[in-house]
Amino acid sequence: MKNDRAVLKRRYQSLYASGELQKRAESLIKRLGACDICPRSCGVNRLEDNDGYCKSGRLVSVANHCAHHGEEPVLSGAGGSGTIFFSGCNLRCVYCQNSQISQGHGPYEQVDSRGLAQMMLYLQEELHCHNINLVSPTHYVPQVVEAICQAVPLGLNIPIVYNTNAYDSLKTLSLLDGIVDIYLPDIKYASDKWAKRFSDARKYVGYSRPAIAEMYRQVGNLITDDNGIAQRGMILRHLILPNRLAGSEDSLKWVAATLSRDVTLSIMAQYYPCHHAPDEPLLARRITADEYREVVDIMNNLGLDNGWLQQLDSADHYLPDFRREGHPFSR
Ligand code: SF4
Repeated sequence: MKNDRAVLKRRYQSLYASGELQKRAESLIKRLGACDICPRSCGVNRLEDNDGYCKSGRLVSVANHCAHHGEEPVLSGAGGSGTIFFSGCNLRCVYCQNSQISQGHGPYEQVDSRGLAQMMLYLQEELHCHNINLVSPTHYVPQVVEAICQAVPLGLNIPIVYNTNAYDSLKTLSLLDGIVDIYLPDIKYASDKWAKRFSDARKYVGYSRPAIAEMYRQVGNLITDDNGIAQRGMILRHLILPNRLAGSEDSLKWVAATLSRDVTLSIMAQYYPCHHAPDEPLLARRITADEYREVVDIMNNLGLDNGWLQQLDSADHYLPDFRREGHPFSR
């Protein structure tokens, strides 16, 4: 990580000034007519609110927007990360800790792109957040870009964070080049077998690795400002699963060999058997101290020492409740 003031002018502001941002929004919105926004390529007409796998139509379902103080320190800082939790998802992780909203059953409000732009401005102007943190944004990329188009002339100027499960298509990601400042992908599996079984994601490895490589190509290593707040770059998350199901060694070797040893990693030990995980014998417990230590050793052996390592007792602090009044995380 290094300090660099030169990036404080947002690239998405330049794209807006040239008209490119509006062009991209139009072309992305058009694709909702036969949706191929993510690797599932459902082909449904979301402009007429036909449901695909993610059960999301033309409008945007938002479960919550708030200042989140539990993200990585470079994102949360003192003011919080301006988090927008989208409802719905293009995965079905049996252990999802956000299942209240990811499966569309929890509380949410539906907004158009203007409403989404107003949320972004509220997080920036009223809550003084350091960034706009889009959680599970993959299925709403067209509407997000449309909303940024509306928010820029009204003063949006903080970094855009794309907080994703990495089941993203290269065609869609290419249109986010210059719009997203900080990519925050989760490298979830190194095995298509486990990805299919536990997240219903076909060819997860084949989609996620090129997607993460493209994200890294676009934004590079993490850059912070003089206050230690992230301005651009990639933070790669990895959630350790019990019984080596996340394929930590394989994934971390891929990162070191294909991306760089300088990649900023956020290793998460917060796994807790939520949602349907208690019914899955391989996932029905938290990770052990040995499993945690094994991943730490792998990182050390590979020379991956940039970023954060969550403490093993973190699970209790990271479970959100989207039915809680005002804020999904207790503080
Ligand atoms: S964004 Fe939703 S509807 Fe579109 S391809 Fe992906 S899962 Fe299907």
